[in-house]
Amino acid sequence: MQNSELQEVIIQDTDRIRWKVTGDESGPVVVVFAGIHGNETAGVHATDAVASELLESGEKLNGTFYVITGNMRALELGVRFVDTDLNRIWETGFDRSHFSPIGNANHTVEFKESLEIKNSVEWVLDKHRGTASDFIFIDLHTTSSESCAFILINDRLDNRRLARKFPVPQILGFEENIRGTLLSYINNIGHMSIGFEAGAHTNIDSITRSQAFLHLAMHWLGVVTLKPEEVKEYEKEMDVHPQVPDSYYEVTYHKMVDDPEKFDMREGYHNFDQVEKGEFLAYENGERIEAPVSGRIFMPLYQKIGNDGFLIINEVAPLWLKLSALMRTSFFHKFLHWLPGVTKDSPNAYLVDMRVARFLVKDIFHLLGYRVIEKDENTLICYKR
Ligand SMILES: [Zn+2]
Repeated sequence: MQNSELQEVIIQDTDRIRWKVTGDESGPVVVVFAGIHGNETAGVHATDAVASELLESGEKLNGTFYVITGNMRALELGVRFVDTDLNRIWETGFDRSHFSPIGNANHTVEFKESLEIKNSVEWVLDKHRGTASDFIFIDLHTTSSESCAFILINDRLDNRRLARKFPVPQILGFEENIRGTLLSYINNIGHMSIGFEAGAHTNIDSITRSQAFLHLAMHWLGVVTLKPEEVKEYEKEMDVHPQVPDSYYEVTYHKMVDDPEKFDMREGYHNFDQVEKGEFLAYENGERIEAPVSGRIFMPLYQKIGNDGFLIINEVAPLWLKLSALMRTSFFHKFLHWLPGVTKDSPNAYLVDMRVARFLVKDIFHLLGYRVIEKDENTLICYKR
């Protein structure tokens, strides 16, 4: 037995790597985390279904698909976490001083869980380094309130590039408010990562939406090839809400809660509901908590656990609109063809080769008031409005 195979068996003995579907070694490696929070089982069911489908179909993948189980002890118990939130302790690698001070960090259940997950990640990276074209990490979650599906990304250009393929709202720069997430750790070690929140913990549709997301992700990453009608079908299954535009949002306010037992969110708020400045949102220690800014409510806390009471998010658009108003009269237009991947098509239109252009190119065109249309998979056409 080869050393690497021996390692593989040992790793799989822990059951931490729940699924591995192999294909062309030179393709991307997609690693999905399921059940990082033990009361969020939609991701576990969805990855089981997708991995089984991939194995049964017999189709050769252009890459490798892994599923790593999250908080195994908390999953057994059906709780979010046992000692400390597994998705808040990854701040800067594994310097012990960065772990949550709850109990003795060395002995918390989550400390051990996180070490095993870290080992599994390293094992995957070691196994495919030098052969795989890329590594992409996906973390599947659900929310305590009803919600449409949405994507969370650390604001890196490659993350945005993948995230924008999906017809759901995208929350940028979440890491500035919620520290120590697994995805931040993955970003810190230099890899692309994307979080998918499928809807409420207990809503059966959260499983369907997670499955649809995984199928689409594998397609957009080039690991499988879906037919156009299949793409449409999965996009439909993601169940986009017409009242929540699938644009970029940023966090404008974060209500931290010291003691979740003393925090009562008022009933009836769904994720992304519009709230007005001054709106009465919750009680904390018997006192009224009001919205300090207008926007959309995000992740209102309806469980007596966790320290994030709610966030308020706003579309990124207004800032861009202001900037673009200033820049439309500017002289930048005549230098656009100098950007990588950009060629002039007619006096009022440019073609952008997305295989060459940086992600930002599209935003620059938006900023300068161009209408950006996808001409084909690799080409954008930008018209002056
Ligand atoms: Zn979660």
